[in-house]
Amino acid sequence: AGQRAGVIGLGNMGGGMALSLHRAGFAVTGFDPSPAAREALAASGMALVDSIAALVAASDVIVLSLPTSDIVEKVVLGEDGILAHARHPVILLDTSTADPTSTVRIAQALAGSPISFVDGPVSGGPKAAHSGNMTMLLGGDEAVLARLAPALDVMTGKRVRVGPVGAGHSAKLLNNLLCGVHLVAAGEAMRIARGAGLDPEEILKGINAGSGRSGVTEVNYPTWILNDAFNSGFTMKLMRKDLRLAAGLIERAGAGAPLSAEALRLWRESAGDVADSDDFNCIVNYEEKQ
Ligand code: NAD
Repeated sequence: AGQRAGVIGLGNMGGGMALSLHRAGFAVTGFDPSPAAREALAASGMALVDSIAALVAASDVIVLSLPTSDIVEKVVLGEDGILAHARHPVILLDTSTADPTSTVRIAQALAGSPISFVDGPVSGGPKAAHSGNMTMLLGGDEAVLARLAPALDVMTGKRVRVGPVGAGHSAKLLNNLLCGVHLVAAGEAMRIARGAGLDPEEILKGINAGSGRSGVTEVNYPTWILNDAFNSGFTMKLMRKDLRLAAGLIERAGAGAPLSAEALRLWRESAGDVADSDDFNCIVNYEEKQ
């Protein structure tokens, strides 16, 4: 306790993280250009400021929860960004789902500055952000992560260090790539079951007792898909962003990945039938037109 935490990007995820930190006794300062995002936190009692300079001056730890790497770069390295205003040691944690090449570039630009940069993309959705129960995949220096532990304890239920800075963002993209492949594969298995005159729900119970099970069959199917409740809070738009970033990772790695490539093609080509605003689980019902 006693640490001062700044949160930049007070949307669905960042707003919840700021509230968790505030509740745990951190002196929290928030910044977001969106009036609606600030409005939602106005009654909380945390400090809401209208410049990054003011937030940096009031923070020992800064958490980012921003839509894209372009915005992260602007907020950190831009003319009026964090680096331009950092006068004392600051730990900077990027929880956005971001492009790892950008993350490494930012880390290089911050070398020798008072800012220690780590990446910690998250899963669990807005509910987990609000309850401090997110899962976080961390990339960065172990000594820096140790100093960040009090804030991480408040925000996460589970966390795993997967390597140096940038590795968290890569791990998150590989995780979401597998999730994207599993959704397509499970959708096919259930269509096959239906086509063969079987009861998909009964077949799914069997699969979940066997080795073909996955997060998709164990969580997504019973929670959202079988109930026809496509309201997980994670949209096609966000998932498509993650899969585009995963495609970049595949390309740079130079590893043959024909199965991933085919799944990524289906996610892209579904755009005409499944809207960006739809729930990401809707991909299971997408069938390619012949
Ligand atoms: P969101 O759109 O609800 O929130 C983003 C916030 O960033 C907005 O309030 C926006 O006004 C603010 N913002 C934009 N530009 C800014 C700037 N220059 N300075 C400060 N703030 C700025 O998005 P979200 O759902 O909270 O997602 C945030 C990040 O977390 C994304 O990278 C997303 O991929 C990732 N993520 C989301 C979920 C989810 O379920 N929603 C789950 C895991 C990871």
